[in-house]
Amino acid sequence: MRELKENYIKIQNAIHEARKQSKDQKEVRLLAVSKKQSIEKVEALFELGQKEFAESYLQELKIKAKVFSGPSWVFIGRLQSNKIKQIVSLCSEIQSVSSFEHARRVASAARELKKEPYPVYLLVNLGGENSKDGVLLSDVEEFSKKLEKHFPELKIEGLMSIPPRVDFSLEEDRATKMYNELSKKAKVVGQGKLSLGMSEDLEQAILAGSDCVRIGTALFGIRK
Ligand SMILES: *Cc1c(COP(=O)(O)O)cnc(C)c1O
Repeated sequence: MRELKENYIKIQNAIHEARKQSKDQKEVRLLAVSKKQSIEKVEALFELGQKEFAESYLQELKIKAKVFSGPSWVFIGRLQSNKIKQIVSLCSEIQSVSSFEHARRVASAARELKKEPYPVYLLVNLGGENSKDGVLLSDVEEFSKKLEKHFPELKIEGLMSIPPRVDFSLEEDRATKMYNELSKKAKVVGQGKLSLGMSEDLEQAILAGSDCVRIGTALFGIRK
């Protein structure tokens, strides 16, 4: 647990440094990605001051939320229609909405549970990868407008993405271009926010204008 504290300080410093170098120097929110990490680590990090945790699997989230109700949980995993209502009830936000049907279910659950306006991010498939969910960057503005028109129960915060893995030391220009395109698009969607940046690309993401980084491994260590 001493290591956890060291990692937490290291990440906060890295965010602070990257922010100082970024153009807008805006606040950056840290989500602690606790999927496949123990509840003991979640509790320890909470005690150190971290209040927002993100999970990817409903089963795991249910177990954690039952034993420890302190955190504000955010859902960042793949959505399935029949699980959406439970996710809305346990989480304060969903960052992985990428279909009309899922948005409809989130909106209807939010209404039923009196949680509207319910914050969501739209998931972008930045590299157009077949293995990943998400709306293509070219389609996301129109998708967002359609959701705004149909679902006043949703508060569309902006865009979230898990970019293709890039080696920044080899392909810095290509990666920077891709990040900047996403960042530009995020500004015209919903509230204009961008959730980008994981353990490996935290700095680059903040420099590109991310408002929210989602850090797992660099905080908690390798997942089980
Ligand atoms: C697992 C996961 C993360 C955290 O990744 P790390 O590389 O461990 O920091 C961030 N975002 C999403 C959507 C994830 O699924």
